[in-house]
Amino acid sequence: MFVDSHCHLATPELHARIDSIRAEMAAAQVDRALCICTTIEEFPVVHELAIRHANLWCTVGVHPDNEGVLEPTLADLVERAALPRVLAIGETGLDYYRLGERSMADMAWQRERFRVHIRAARATGLPLVVHTRSASDDTLAILRDEGGGKVRGVFHCFTETMAVAKAALELGFHISFSGILTFRNAEELRAVAREVPMERCQIETDSPYLAPAPYRGKTNSPAYVPLVAARLAEVKGLSVERVAEITSRNFEQLFGLPAHLPAIA
Ligand SMILES: [Zn+2]
Ligand SMILES: [Zn+2]
Repeated sequence: MFVDSHCHLATPELHARIDSIRAEMAAAQVDRALCICTTIEEFPVVHELAIRHANLWCTVGVHPDNEGVLEPTLADLVERAALPRVLAIGETGLDYYRLGERSMADMAWQRERFRVHIRAARATGLPLVVHTRSASDDTLAILRDEGGGKVRGVFHCFTETMAVAKAALELGFHISFSGILTFRNAEELRAVAREVPMERCQIETDSPYLAPAPYRGKTNSPAYVPLVAARLAEVKGLSVERVAEITSRNFEQLFGLPAHLPAIA
């Protein structure tokens, strides 16, 4: 019934109990999940999850926060993207939240890395999973410049303004909402969610981070994505079943999956 469009099941704390997580997913009617890659070093682990389990898929990319890791070339990404069960390029994007002492000029490596990912999305035709934090202007500018209107994808774990959402929608992107949507102080984000057309909405956990209420602060898991769906349903004035159905269809369309795959227990 539900899809978690963004989770990090290769992180050691989740990977160590993958069998119980999959059982919890089945019990919560979370049929499918997309395992997001954050380094080239991690890729074999995420890919193995996708190969081994019929209801898990994966991406290839290097998260903008990751420093001191292998810097991916276009060929590194394209080669891995051609493997079975790799559905997207990312997560990638820009994150200026942890600038510290550094200037914008010091972050040129992050912008260049983002450009390489967009080129990989163009070369493969796969969608892009975009992470943006405290960097929306540059994220949109680089997407326009490098994507040339030809790249589609999703702005994941959306926490930006309506203006940023509108710009992303104009570029043809989906907007994915995480457990943040359930937080008490997220009234502005819920106002944004109200305005995003339902046919462009996705839901995710970004687990192990950002567990939705009432589990805020605890370890997150894909089994909690129905709580995000329930909050989105409330915001939209729809039933949770309808939100599950539409977000699942959006996921299938964006990531090119056949519809109505059976749930795997
Ligand atoms: Zn992210
Ligand atoms: Zn993530």
